[in-house]
Amino acid sequence: MTQEFDYICLGAGSGGIASANRAAMRGAKVLLIEAKQVGGTCVNLGCVPKKVMWYGAHIADAMNLYAKDYGFDVTVNKFDWSTLVASREAYIGRIHDAYGRGFANNKVTLLEGYGRFVNGNTIEVDGKHYSAKHILIATGGAPSFPNIPGAEHGIDSDGFFGLNEQPKRVAVVGAGYIAVELAGVMHALGSETHLLVRKHAPLRNFDPILTDALVEAMALDGPTLHTHSVPKEVLKNADNSLTLVLENGNSVTVDCLIWAIGRAPSTNNIGLEHTQVERDEKGYIITDAQQNTSAEGIYCVGDIMAGGVELTPVAVKAGRLLSERLFGAMPDAKMDYNLIPTVVFSHPPIGTMGLTEPEAVTQYGADKVKVYSSTFTSMYTAVTAHRQACKMKLVCAGDNEVVVGIHGIGFGMDEILQGFGVAMKMGATKADFDSVVAIHPTGAEEFVTMR
Ligand code: NDP
Repeated sequence: MTQEFDYICLGAGSGGIASANRAAMRGAKVLLIEAKQVGGTCVNLGCVPKKVMWYGAHIADAMNLYAKDYGFDVTVNKFDWSTLVASREAYIGRIHDAYGRGFANNKVTLLEGYGRFVNGNTIEVDGKHYSAKHILIATGGAPSFPNIPGAEHGIDSDGFFGLNEQPKRVAVVGAGYIAVELAGVMHALGSETHLLVRKHAPLRNFDPILTDALVEAMALDGPTLHTHSVPKEVLKNADNSLTLVLENGNSVTVDCLIWAIGRAPSTNNIGLEHTQVERDEKGYIITDAQQNTSAEGIYCVGDIMAGGVELTPVAVKAGRLLSERLFGAMPDAKMDYNLIPTVVFSHPPIGTMGLTEPEAVTQYGADKVKVYSSTFTSMYTAVTAHRQACKMKLVCAGDNEVVVGIHGIGFGMDEILQGFGVAMKMGATKADFDSVVAIHPTGAEEFVTMR
């Protein structure tokens, strides 16, 4: 027997949950299917546990680097990794509980099990069939492993969040958000940390002011950055340590090796061959501007979307807008994938939105681009022997200097960006930025006082 619903969401990660709840709030009968943990990558193995670890690292930095000059005689006898992990997991448990209450309030039916399409409007879970006129695919992605001998001795970011003991020595391979964030956290928490990137720098496609400042901060504070380091093989030693051998002949020996070289979409094993859904050569699902796939009544949001942006709030917004379109009073609703603010929880944090300076020059021509920047010591560290730099940049285009890019690295940048994002979405110019009275003393005020 087949159970009928108005809407089925395959995957209860950020995108699926947001879309399911919104559809139910608009009166749809909704089934939400999840094979692993409700909350998906973000809540269980990504943003949330990462941010908790980052706050832990923040406390470590405060005690180790700054407390003394603020007059505190701090002696840290012990850092207990397992306490931090337990606090983190308890918090995640409370988030799961809150999700459960939300589903109950909205009357979303949660089904735990692995779902696969059996045809264009039917999903099978554990031998039972569920069908709906509208089906959302929101199955997210999973970390990639390199194809080199011994790669299996390393772990990925999922494995990192399963560590119950702190590794003494760790190598993180990769140059994106995850590599930079995990390496920064591990270093601040006291592990000997090596970050290995295969080119000249991590985050090399970010605005140069950010890439350069991050490399400078790492040179000053750690972790140890190894550039032009392409992994060749991993050897497991008799004492269980791992030696990562590089193509340049160098090697590094650690207790824990973390691959953070990117993620791949989880679209291979969900029965798409029984539908008309088209994917690109890497397995990402092709959609139009309103999240429609090539199969009628099947939609897609989140990390599996071809040409999408792999960020939780993007999946959430796209999922909600889709539900408003299908079940609400917004028939034209669609996600705006332009100008998306993003933060890397590095040390110090990075906030960035819009065009980098090189991108703006390519798009508008060098004579139409004006750049304003500022470098200063964060006031938090201005009174301490250990200093931390802040660097900020506005990229403006055209005669009226529309702000097309905003980039910053430094204390508080993770919280500073959001409001400026609103201004940029409204098309703010440099003159609009300057028209606001600065809040003093803050780091954010630099963005409205640049000359
Ligand atoms: P990314 O795709 O961002 O970065 C992975 C990088 O690793 C590549 O860009 C590449 O950089 C390098 N790389 C690729 N293959 C290899 C290889 N074989 N050996 C060595 N290095 C390699 O992936 P992440 O896994 O870091 O993150 C995935 C996405 O998740 C991000 O793009 C982001 O959108 C999201 N995310 C967001 C966070 C946030 O909002 N704070 C936090 C974490 C993730 P290069 O070409 O320079 O070598």
